[in-house]
Amino acid sequence: MNPRQSGSIAHWAACVAIFFLPLAIIGTPAVLAQPGRAGEIVRAPKPKPIDWKKTTDEAVKLLSQYIQINTTNPPGNEIRAAQLLKEKFLSDGIPATIWQSAPGRGIVAARLRGVGRKRKTLILLSHMDVVPANPRQWSVAPFSGKVKDGSVWGRGALDDKGPGVIEMMAMLAIKRAGILLDRDVLFIATGDEETGGRQGAQWFADNEKDIYSDAGYLLNEGGAIMVRPNGRQLYTVSVTEKAPLWLRLVATGPTGHAADPPEETSVTHLVRALGRLIDYRPKIHVLQPVADYFNVLAHIDHGPRQWLNLAVALRDPAFAREFLSMPYQNAMVRDTIAPTVLMAGPTINELPETAYADVDCRLLPGENPKRFMETIRKVIADKSIKIQVLLTSPATSSPQKSSLMRAIERLAREDKARSVPTMISGFTDSRFFRQHGVISYGFIPIELSAADERGIHGVNEHIGVSQLGDAIRRMVTLLEIFGGRG
Ligand SMILES: [Zn+2]
Repeated sequence: MNPRQSGSIAHWAACVAIFFLPLAIIGTPAVLAQPGRAGEIVRAPKPKPIDWKKTTDEAVKLLSQYIQINTTNPPGNEIRAAQLLKEKFLSDGIPATIWQSAPGRGIVAARLRGVGRKRKTLILLSHMDVVPANPRQWSVAPFSGKVKDGSVWGRGALDDKGPGVIEMMAMLAIKRAGILLDRDVLFIATGDEETGGRQGAQWFADNEKDIYSDAGYLLNEGGAIMVRPNGRQLYTVSVTEKAPLWLRLVATGPTGHAADPPEETSVTHLVRALGRLIDYRPKIHVLQPVADYFNVLAHIDHGPRQWLNLAVALRDPAFAREFLSMPYQNAMVRDTIAPTVLMAGPTINELPETAYADVDCRLLPGENPKRFMETIRKVIADKSIKIQVLLTSPATSSPQKSSLMRAIERLAREDKARSVPTMISGFTDSRFFRQHGVISYGFIPIELSAADERGIHGVNEHIGVSQLGDAIRRMVTLLEIFGGRG
């Protein structure tokens, strides 16, 4: 933040205090009984400048500690991480609470009060659990939280402990500086995100509605500041995401000695079914945020002109072949089907009674899971195969236009960057809050290069100290904009 901005915030904070004090007095008879001159207006003190170096150093220390708490999911065991975050909030006088959705599982929430009376609360969401990390593949111990070469290293540095620390430190910086926001900010860190969220965000969204019933907006993982190869920044804001539909295909057949096999067994049924399934190509459908995203990329990167109008361009078979050959691009324009788990017998010379395959399907928003499953049944064309649903969740979207989007656009403009709404091919905890009517965007103002993105669920995940500090600074600015700065 530059000094000019600080000045305007101080002015704004004083104005808010003047505006709301009479309301507070009217609404609180006890205040009238206090001694003091009638009509006296007490100005809020000017916000103190934020020491960014100190804030960043503190964030580095906190993130390092947070990474050292191993929250690999399964089993998660997020409760110690929840305690760490809760204690940190409490030590700064921000009320915080922990929930245990199941033994060892943790959820933490903390609320920074604003002075607004009408404006809806903004949720800052993150998750505390992480995916497994194989230390043999890493150059640093994945749960060391080591600080070296200007970065904090470890599983969760980017997904999603780093963003959680950015959200928390922004709240602490605002509170310590005495910046008055015109709305409450509610921090929520859940567990169990990486395996579907049943013991985490889903549990919280369903069971603790009172905690967030005043929330209208939410920021979560799913979007960031992409640094393009030409150095230009693009603020990507995910407004929708694909819906998971995890299926188990179960085939059964006769048992017996493998020396005299019948023509069809559980395994042959399953393999033939999978063969038909992987040859199937779901139809192409370019949704509006996806079209917008590629259009903006074409402008920023001076990329292929076909990206300017992707839906039309994909009618050309040669272009479509090339475009769809990139897995990420393919996933943006169609439902995907990925067999990931295969199970059959334990011994080589015995025919197993059952064989099954788990298939991770991701549906575009708007696709009906029931209709999709009917298509799968037709493609498999084998009535003996049973299809079980392991996980399903409706696709959820938030409007592309809102006051939160305008605040993000303004933040981007102040950084001389562009912002674009988009869709992500994965899914996040945002869907549980979208289902309850909260406008939820995937956006954390952290700069991410393609190399950074490879660390997410990959090896040697790390976040640069300056990346962390800049993100906190931008998050503070975003909260100021969305929290009432003119
Ligand atoms: Zn994540």
